[in-house]
Amino acid sequence: MGKPTGFKEFDRKKVPWRLPVVRLNDYDEIYTEHKIDHLREQGARCMDCGVPFCQSGTGCPIDNLIPEWNDLVYNNRWKEAIERLHKTNNFPEFTGRTCPAPCEGSCVLGINHPPVTIKNIENAIVDRAWEEGWIVPEPPESRTGKSVAIVGSGPAGLTAADQLNKAGHSVTVYERANRIGGLLQYGIPNMKLSKEAVQRRVDKMTAEGIKFVTGANVGVDLDPKELVNENDAVLLACGATKPRDLPIPNRDAKGVHFAMEFLTANTRQSVHGETLGDGFISAEGKDVIVIGGGDTGTDCIATSLRHGCRSLVNFELLPKPPEERASDNPWPEWPRVFRVDYGHEEAEAKFGRDPREYQILSKEFVVDAAGELAGIKTVEVEWTKDESGKWQMAEVEGSEKQWPAQLILLSMGFLGPEQYVPESLGMETDPRSNFKAEHGQFATNIDKVFAAGDCRRGQSLVVWAINEGRGAARAIDVFLQGESNLPAPGVTMGTAMQVG
Ligand SMILES: Cc1cc2nc3c(=O)[nH]c(=O)nc-3n(C[C@H](O)[C@H](O)[C@H](O)COP(=O)(O)OP(=O)(O)OC[C@H]3O[C@@H](n4cnc5c(N)ncnc54)[C@H](O)[C@@H]3O)c2cc1C
Ligand code: SF4
Repeated sequence: MGKPTGFKEFDRKKVPWRLPVVRLNDYDEIYTEHKIDHLREQGARCMDCGVPFCQSGTGCPIDNLIPEWNDLVYNNRWKEAIERLHKTNNFPEFTGRTCPAPCEGSCVLGINHPPVTIKNIENAIVDRAWEEGWIVPEPPESRTGKSVAIVGSGPAGLTAADQLNKAGHSVTVYERANRIGGLLQYGIPNMKLSKEAVQRRVDKMTAEGIKFVTGANVGVDLDPKELVNENDAVLLACGATKPRDLPIPNRDAKGVHFAMEFLTANTRQSVHGETLGDGFISAEGKDVIVIGGGDTGTDCIATSLRHGCRSLVNFELLPKPPEERASDNPWPEWPRVFRVDYGHEEAEAKFGRDPREYQILSKEFVVDAAGELAGIKTVEVEWTKDESGKWQMAEVEGSEKQWPAQLILLSMGFLGPEQYVPESLGMETDPRSNFKAEHGQFATNIDKVFAAGDCRRGQSLVVWAINEGRGAARAIDVFLQGESNLPAPGVTMGTAMQVG
């Protein structure tokens, strides 16, 4: 423990984001520079708890050694801090930028004080390590002669590739998109996670011997059975990419799009400089409505603002969360409280109000004579508990409203993975259509074939994809060699957290 009285002396202070009015003009990351003294002071707030709730249980899904690196940062031992961090997390810059931080929700200090700024400290450690040149390619000393094919290059596939390559197996990652990274590349916008940060890891992994094949849609361009025959093991890390639709009248109106169509096109054109022509979906000068909250909704808000939309509203079906934890949501559970994310802050800066409208049910898209989207009809809803304690939704009479909109983005979560790969392999899926495999084993019913990440657990978080990638790599290593030195992340209690 760095400073025994630190938690009494210092208040929680987050590393600030750039000012909304400034950052709205670009697609650069929202973060400001890390200040060493500031972070040492924040690290000093850690109490080095006898039972560090931050690092397991409801806390970190990959068991990050949080009190250890808080102490190392306080004592200015940054190189050792990155070594500790890399023991449990292959990509701390991905979680340091994107994780909702269940560790902070579980931090013991959070019982009666604001928790330690764990996420900021994690991000600062890894950013400093890159700047200092401490992160360099480290190819394995020897090869096992075994080959593994990984389908999908999101955080689950990348983590498994990194681990299996460390164990000496020859790894090839197949990705149907034109760039590597899965949702790190084409879901989460550059403002939150720069694509340079993603590419930097891909370059390091390439230098370590991992092969990446883009534009390779397994099940369309490549026969999955051939991959299985030609390799000693195959890992499916295909994500949960089927979006939830909104089948109300006029759904086919021009101007209604899934969030991922909008976000992917934006990153390709606005960040990577591709020319997409009609494939680019612009919010410029339009009244935009984002249906659904969560991280995806926030990303649509932030991107629409950067396009220069005329107005912006975000519909939420559920009631506004409370400012403080409710009595049925005690520490150390994930706090289900009202939060202001980067996109909400930016909308407030531009339009003078938070864009979120709660308890709104969409009823019908409105089109003009040319079939173009002109708006949407809604009704307010009320939520009450029935006798058995189950929530029931009812429409509020007389609350019908019509909103103008020329662009509506559907951000209502995901229904599970696409089915063409399991179908062509004759692979079992579970009742939610996810690829069927036990956490910890990760083996499917097809010999040599494993599954990990969102395609196995349903749409989740980057940190859970890393948990699954590490676990699946160990399971595959045991399958190939009979034993493994790769660590297995704990099967933590997890939380009800999901992104939409
Ligand atoms: C817009 C958005 C924002 C998000 N923001 C956050 C956030 O801020 N924090 C957070 O923790 N989580 C966030 N998430 C969730 C998080 O990104 C996912 O949980 C995580 O990326 C899942 O990782 P994965 O590797 O399982 O799958 P994915 O990242 O979905 O990657 C799967 C990859 O497999 C590829 N693929 C699929 N089928 C095939 C095939 N047949 N052949 C070849 N390739 C194939 C896909 O093209 C894709 O690249 C967000 C999700 C979205 C949609
Ligand atoms: S729970 Fe909070 S105070 Fe305790 S060890 Fe973890 S970060 Fe430090």
